[in-house]
Amino acid sequence: MNRFVSENYERVKTEIYRAAQRSGRDPVSVQVVAVSKGVPSSAILKAKAAGIHAFGENRVQEFSRKYRELGQEIQWHFVGHLQRNKVRLLVNKVKLIHSLDRWELAVELNRWSVQEGTFFDTLVQVNMAREKSKHGLYEEEVRDFLTAAAGLPGLRVCGLMTIAPYAANPEEARPFFRALRELAVKHRAIPGLKLDLLSMGMTQDFVVAVEEGANIVRVGTGIFGLRR
Ligand SMILES: *Cc1c(COP(=O)(O)O)cnc(C)c1O
Repeated sequence: MNRFVSENYERVKTEIYRAAQRSGRDPVSVQVVAVSKGVPSSAILKAKAAGIHAFGENRVQEFSRKYRELGQEIQWHFVGHLQRNKVRLLVNKVKLIHSLDRWELAVELNRWSVQEGTFFDTLVQVNMAREKSKHGLYEEEVRDFLTAAAGLPGLRVCGLMTIAPYAANPEEARPFFRALRELAVKHRAIPGLKLDLLSMGMTQDFVVAVEEGANIVRVGTGIFGLRR
């Protein structure tokens, strides 16, 4: 397992390096979040030993179990749809929530972080391809959302996230990634926001995402192998 994961990780890093070079970017500006859903804590520890720093989970229950097992040794990212009644379980435990996808969630995140005297770092998830099956704001809703979110003291919006539609050819994701970057550039001037982070690209399409400006890629299968 260890060797397998570290070989996979080396390959992912090499592909990121080449993609960054091709597009004139600094390869170290791209962070890998290893999506560890379905992966046992023991394998996460081995992946950490192989040099992976950040791990992403998409279910609160699974995250909480792994947090009890591994705790703050791990830099945790939350990448899945988040129910409001689960927010309290993430307070002071996750580095970044990639999936801020609706206003009620922003309000709840803010309520908890203000109450606990802390803050949540978040990315706003945008449904660029307008897929009915996916969460996230539509492009035209982003400006008003960001403007309002900038007024919430317990929330820091650090950038945008998207999931491209599944496609056999990763090139099909390119227009969505490009449009997400343009959206971030367009809204960069909103006071109180930074929008430095672009979380886009998974196993299938992270190379294209890096070429289009991703500085966080979320790779699961490409590191841990197929999920059961
Ligand atoms: C599962 C998941 C990933 C990783 O998917 P792979 O195809 O296994 O790389 C990335 N982002 C989100 C939001 C996910 O749920």
